[in-house]
Amino acid sequence: MKYISTRGGNEELSAAEAIKCGLAKNGGLFVPQELPKLTLEELSAWQKLDYRQRAADLLRRFLTDYSQSEIEDCVNAAYSESKFSDPKIAPLRSLDAKRHVLELWHGPTSAFKDMALQVLPRLMVTALAKTKEKAQVAILVATSGDTGKAALEGFCDVAQTQVIVFYPKDGVSEIQRRQMVTQAGENVAVVAVEGNFDDAQSGVKTIFADEAFNSLLEDSEIRLSSANSINWGRLAPQIVYYFSSYIDLVASGAIKLGDKVNFVVPTGNFGNILAGYYALRMGLPVGRLICAANRNNVLSDFIQSGRYDRKREFHKTISPSMDILISSNLERMLYYLVQGEREKVAEWMACLAKDGCYEIGAQLHEVLQEIFWSGWVDDDETQRMIKEVYQERGYLLDPHTAVAWQVGEKYRLQGDDAPQIILSTASPFKFNDSVLEALEGEKRSGEDEFALLKALAEKSGWKMPQKLAELETLPLRHQKTCAVSEMRACVQQILVK
Ligand SMILES: *Cc1c(COP(=O)(O)O)cnc(C)c1O
Repeated sequence: MKYISTRGGNEELSAAEAIKCGLAKNGGLFVPQELPKLTLEELSAWQKLDYRQRAADLLRRFLTDYSQSEIEDCVNAAYSESKFSDPKIAPLRSLDAKRHVLELWHGPTSAFKDMALQVLPRLMVTALAKTKEKAQVAILVATSGDTGKAALEGFCDVAQTQVIVFYPKDGVSEIQRRQMVTQAGENVAVVAVEGNFDDAQSGVKTIFADEAFNSLLEDSEIRLSSANSINWGRLAPQIVYYFSSYIDLVASGAIKLGDKVNFVVPTGNFGNILAGYYALRMGLPVGRLICAANRNNVLSDFIQSGRYDRKREFHKTISPSMDILISSNLERMLYYLVQGEREKVAEWMACLAKDGCYEIGAQLHEVLQEIFWSGWVDDDETQRMIKEVYQERGYLLDPHTAVAWQVGEKYRLQGDDAPQIILSTASPFKFNDSVLEALEGEKRSGEDEFALLKALAEKSGWKMPQKLAELETLPLRHQKTCAVSEMRACVQQILVK
């Protein structure tokens, strides 16, 4: 199967090449030329498979230039029991007949990014070998908090790679910051950017597009690549848990094979929910994909109006991993909306870059609305949900999952009472201060992150992730800060010795 750019052109790459490059030469994202199917019969057979086997069965359909054993080696190492604290890897918790929470945060960094970023480095290294690449691959990451640590965990000390993570200086939680600045490894660097996530992401994109800089790096046998969800090797593994949770729900007896379910997805960069769209197109019985947003509601507005407009105030919220105004992966969705008419995608992306907005027109908007529904909630509502769900059901939601829960409830009020699978994207311990504040009704003052972790564990009776507790005693290794305009110089300084 070949991969092409969402923005047109003749570039046609194998999966290995697409994963190695990350981004197409013309700035577009790679999409597979055809979409494989997974029939209900094939899916039914997944009931006997564990998560690793399920992942291998799905990935082989997209990564046709990888051998079966290459794929198995990648997923077995990624979803090992030494990395994930739950033997089911992505367990589904049914809170009642209609509400099922898919816990995607049992990996090493306590957020769902591990589901993809434990696999991507392995797919990447395999790709380097397959394409006989001699250069070092430098992975540049812009993070709203969770991707950075997950990429550092995934790529740390992986041969032939280096990772540089840029995070918004005041835009991540203290736990997230600690996770990153304590990262060990010979091939890692972490830099705070004076700006928000969109600034950091645009900075990274500018570096990717800078031809002169890229050829300068080439002289030192370095090529840039990405671990952001624009990389196909990160998106594909996310399709697995849509199918996997569905078949778990069938196995539990809550639904029959073929019944439709709705997925509720706390959304930022549109990567997670896009994987759900791929699952739908591959044959999964999905009713609606429900896109949940926080106060940075650019996606809700787009889904409700057909007009994408990033020209708005940026808000810092208690669900910081969704504080995003430019959702990169939406570009892939546009490609499917226009049915491959790639000039249109290129046009809209040019408008977005130039004017900060674009409009898809009434007809396509209607198509979009048949698949997606979207709503958003503010911080107060998010905190109320955390408290309510904990009090009524004894289940602890992190702020991102709470946003999803509440938007799922809003959707139910529209009259669709089909079972919902709510994607839970972070452990509540990762955002312990907001969660505690929600439970107790006020912020604790004068207690540091680690006191809060313990307080949350005591209050809830939930077990805190070991890796988070350990952060307290780890040395701070990365102190670098830079302005957005200095990002390129910073990359050069780190990479070119
Ligand atoms: C990254 C992230 C999201 C948003 O996922 P996208 O794929 O960017 O839409 C939501 N919640 C958490 C906790 C995250 O880390």
